[in-house]
Amino acid sequence: MTSSVVVIGAGLIGTTTAWYLAERGFDVTVLDRREGPALETSYANGGLLTPSEADPWNAPGTLGRLLRWLGREDSPLLLRPTALPGMLKWGIGFLHASRAVPHRRSTEAILRLALYSVRMLDELVYQLHPDFDALNNGTIKIFRNRSALEQSLELADALRPLGLESHLLDPCEAVGLEPALNTISDQLVGAIHYPADQSGDAHLFTLAMAKHAAAAGVKFRFNTSVQAMRVDATRIQGLITQQDEIHADIYVLAAGSYSPQLVRPLKLRLPIYPVKGYSVTVTPAQGHSLRVPVVDFEQKLVLTPLGDRLRIAGTAEFNGYDITLNAARSGSILCQAMAILPGLAASVEQGGVISWTGLRPMTCDGPPVLGKTPYGNLFFNTGHGPLGWTLCAGSARIVADVITGRTPDIDPGAYSFSRFMH
Ligand SMILES: Cc1cc2nc3c(=O)[nH]c(=O)nc-3n(C[C@H](O)[C@H](O)[C@H](O)COP(=O)(O)OP(=O)(O)OC[C@H]3O[C@@H](n4cnc5c(N)ncnc54)[C@H](O)[C@@H]3O)c2cc1C
Repeated sequence: MTSSVVVIGAGLIGTTTAWYLAERGFDVTVLDRREGPALETSYANGGLLTPSEADPWNAPGTLGRLLRWLGREDSPLLLRPTALPGMLKWGIGFLHASRAVPHRRSTEAILRLALYSVRMLDELVYQLHPDFDALNNGTIKIFRNRSALEQSLELADALRPLGLESHLLDPCEAVGLEPALNTISDQLVGAIHYPADQSGDAHLFTLAMAKHAAAAGVKFRFNTSVQAMRVDATRIQGLITQQDEIHADIYVLAAGSYSPQLVRPLKLRLPIYPVKGYSVTVTPAQGHSLRVPVVDFEQKLVLTPLGDRLRIAGTAEFNGYDITLNAARSGSILCQAMAILPGLAASVEQGGVISWTGLRPMTCDGPPVLGKTPYGNLFFNTGHGPLGWTLCAGSARIVADVITGRTPDIDPGAYSFSRFMH
């Protein structure tokens, strides 16, 4: 008999999981409280598929930077003092994982998953031809500060044996690769090109995957908010929504930043914090000339060409579940982008700008949480933080493997929930 699965969340992660499960013959239903797929964090992210960004944000030294920038509206990392009481436990885990050895271990685990994930995404693209303004030009990471460049080079060298290709460029070579950097070449001390990185619109991709999943038999129930899980000692018995109770053999939690709330009553503590970020999408009337997505290392900013649009994304704000659009924060990333591409100013004046904010579901140690839970029929696929687009295909495939009882292509141990159970 066909087993039924309910996936909670129709973002990048839930939708891709639903596709793989349907492909393996499960009877799949996806629930989402919103009116369509990918309307929360997967809506307007930076668009980068970047194994090159595998190192989690709690690199040794982050605490010092956070404290230095405390309360500064224009800083790339902003910790609001009012958020502190609500993030104490998570913050301790974040700091604990920021020591050199665990940080390197997390970086390697995320890199393995990211490289696998981009391969799986390539297979999906080959198989399904989703249209998502995809680009295969790598990324170029720019540096204005020599010690930051040296640190990144050291990491790039250490990760090369694991499969991350990278090339150091001097400012002239950087402009040769991406002529749009011409205006800031005198500020640069160098750049690193990661040729295997890719980019594309995560929202368009999720819409395409939802369409293919529906064609493969997946049922989507939108405007359906899961309010609680009904459980006995070992299994989930049902999901209580605002309309009814929904039953299945298996449940997958892919609710992004809102995953912890749903399992807290089950005494499962998912250490995921909603780290707020912003994006601005500009459609220049005269088009744009950016060919290679740019990562501005010091400003924590990315500039990504998505067809005739440019997506600028960045900033990390620790401010709980607040999703108000702060004009100072989105204005600040736009100003930084205009400092790199002065030609954007005209489009901004003409008003072709869409601002957005989203909450990155960030685990305290970096890697996502995939697979089994103490409840036999509940599985996690959540906590992808700043890299959910990069990690979606691989994570979804691993979770589908675990549910099916197949051995995943990469060892899922580093992403297990059990790492938090002590
Ligand atoms: C500014 C910014 C830039 C980023 N840039 C990049 C990038 O360049 N590259 C990259 O790889 N990643 C990037 N990310 C990260 C990436 O966008 C996320 O990791 C990813 O979108 C998370 O996907 P998700 O499906 O887990 O969460 P979501 O997209 O948030 O999906 C969760 C879904 O669950 C639903 N839901 C929640 N609670 C319930 C409930 N109780 N009942 C029913 N439904 C519920 C929500 O409505 C939502 O649709 C960025 C994020 C931000 C904020």
